[in-house]
Amino acid sequence: MAKVIDSKIPAGPVPEKWKEYKAHQRLVNPKNKLKLDVIVVGTGLAGASAAASLGEMGFNVINLCIQDSPRRAHSIAAQGGINAAKCYQNDGDSIYRLFYDTVKGGDYRAREANVYRLAEVSNNIIDQCVAQGVPFAREYGGMLANRSFGGAQVSRTFYAKGQTGQQLLLGAYSSLSCQVNAGKVKLYTRYEMEDVVIVDGRARGIIAKDLCTGKLVRFSANAVVIATGGYGNTYFLSTNAMGCNCTAAVQCYRKGAYFANPSYVQIHPTCIPVHGDKQSKLTLMSESLRNDGRIWVPKKIEDAKALQAGTKQGWEIPEEDRDYYLERRYPAFGNLVPRDVASRAAKERCDKGFGVNNTGLAVFLDFSESINRLGIDVIMQRYGNLFEMYEEITDVFPGDVANEINGVKYYKPMMIYPAIHYTMGGIWVDYELQTSIPGLFAIGECNFSDHGANRLGASALMQGLADGYFVLPYTIQNYLADQAVWPKVSTDLPEFAEAEKAVDAELDRLLNIKGKRSVDSIHKELGHIMWEYVGMGRTAEGLKTGLKKMHELEKEFDSNLFVPGTKEGLNIELDKAIHLRDFFTMGQLVAFDALSRNESCGGHFREEYQTEEGEAKRDDENYFYVGCWEYKGKGNEPELIKEPLEYEAIKVQTRNYKN
Ligand SMILES: Cc1cc2nc3c(=O)[nH]c(=O)nc-3n(C[C@H](O)[C@H](O)[C@H](O)COP(=O)(O)OP(=O)(O)OC[C@H]3O[C@@H](n4cnc5c(N)ncnc54)[C@H](O)[C@@H]3O)c2cc1C
Repeated sequence: MAKVIDSKIPAGPVPEKWKEYKAHQRLVNPKNKLKLDVIVVGTGLAGASAAASLGEMGFNVINLCIQDSPRRAHSIAAQGGINAAKCYQNDGDSIYRLFYDTVKGGDYRAREANVYRLAEVSNNIIDQCVAQGVPFAREYGGMLANRSFGGAQVSRTFYAKGQTGQQLLLGAYSSLSCQVNAGKVKLYTRYEMEDVVIVDGRARGIIAKDLCTGKLVRFSANAVVIATGGYGNTYFLSTNAMGCNCTAAVQCYRKGAYFANPSYVQIHPTCIPVHGDKQSKLTLMSESLRNDGRIWVPKKIEDAKALQAGTKQGWEIPEEDRDYYLERRYPAFGNLVPRDVASRAAKERCDKGFGVNNTGLAVFLDFSESINRLGIDVIMQRYGNLFEMYEEITDVFPGDVANEINGVKYYKPMMIYPAIHYTMGGIWVDYELQTSIPGLFAIGECNFSDHGANRLGASALMQGLADGYFVLPYTIQNYLADQAVWPKVSTDLPEFAEAEKAVDAELDRLLNIKGKRSVDSIHKELGHIMWEYVGMGRTAEGLKTGLKKMHELEKEFDSNLFVPGTKEGLNIELDKAIHLRDFFTMGQLVAFDALSRNESCGGHFREEYQTEEGEAKRDDENYFYVGCWEYKGKGNEPELIKEPLEYEAIKVQTRNYKN
């Protein structure tokens, strides 16, 4: 335990070691000894902003991504917005209030100091992005516009229509390109990190695969930063981009980096419902829609049954027969309760038989009231592209008037249901964003740092950009300051050769199984197990069953997988097989953590631990800690190490969104 809370890992120059290195001629080039190189893996908002900032500060940056351009990182999918405590609406917002809302939103399971720092730098992010030319929405008078997201009673979300992530990424990409042009960042697209190389207990480089040629390449540097996103795709169906994977993070975990709070997985309430077993992707409808859309199911079970049978439509049900259950249960926050609360409430209604589509697993998100109040033009200005996206997928346009009852116009409502969306857990980092391996840093969604057990909307982009622009570039220097006399090592070292050999052997192993099942068929089965036993409602018994089933399926993966082709050249199936190998490790880790946490908090809901009203019941006496896991080998149970949480500024209490 002590090793975790000791957040200042000594990074001294170790002169004796330095002499030893010289004696063994392990340096690439002694003339280079003051050159500091940093590898940044990932070009999402966290990775691109960090690589650009480090380049600008004079470091030599090697930046890799699996896509053909940094602009295609998953961050581009972010729709709704980014939080900052600017208080442009003069509605009582402040840094303290953003800090408080985020800690409360995370169900008091985040590190207080980290969240305060996040709130403090939030305003700088907006200034930085505006300076880059990010076209945030503006009021008529020219001020930046805001909207509200869940878990807040102020308007602090900055947005660019429904494309905030894309616009922010274009801003970060322009800074990155500037550094590429200046020669400070060397960009490697279509490269995937397969392993981290540890030399004398420090991260000194990585092994990457050139995804086009299949060749393994060694990179060495003074420090390694991973910014490789979350592990939501462990569940197969999620709102994440298809390419999202946790290979880099899991490989760091296997090499000794602790993995923190893996059971904290976010299930987003407003996704387009699953509509068949051939589906491989789910689509998010942004949380911003809950500003003006009202969530409801019928009050009468017979109406619900008619909707499920297709004999009735939502717009035929009059106002008095609608149950706006979030407004009813949580009058203070209404439709803007945090995601974990809204998701569970939707599940509760559907479990009771009030679902509104043919599977009974959907609720309505209705814009009738806001269109009647504000007019379709205003609503289209705010959510136009989201309405169009919804129509493209479902053939229903939510701005179409469908019925008129007692002089009130009813528009076609959207149908939504919760789906896996974001992972709050991640590689454990100290306050400086350094992992438990010296010289290895983790930023953005792939670390665990700021969101506790539940992330509030519009705060992932805030955290990714805070880490990349304003935290890591400074904190990494505490480590790098000593590295000036410790130049980067040669990639000829045996540690690199061994790591490369191990990666190569894994590729051969996967290709040589020559079984009968495709990667996707096994992944889909893993996803079913995850959703069924490690999903929205968890029990000790279910988690044990889930673990057993995962273990059996992993054996099937190891003995009956079929990967076509060879390791030379492009082989997407082989890349997917590597990802699936790591989703197995991840899935089991999520289940172990969920099983060990005998309480409900945020996105982790154990059915045994709930209040009479069905709310999450925390156990602060026994579980007020960050659960960190240390890898103990394939098939073995990982070891739990606890980092106790300490709150000084905020009183820990039960979350209340009712009044
Ligand atoms: C549909 C959707 C909408 C969202 N909307 C919002 C929103 O409105 N507001 C908000 O705050 N958050 C939102 N989020 C969450 C937010 O988009 C993500 O949490 C955030 O973008 C993650 O950024 P990142 O830089 O950490 O990772 P990512 O954007 O996932 O980038 C990961 C990078 O790592 C690279 N990579 C991965 N593995 C490897 C490897 N092994 N080797 C080399 N490179 C690798 C990838 O190529 C990529 O460049 C949304 C998420 C989704 C799915």
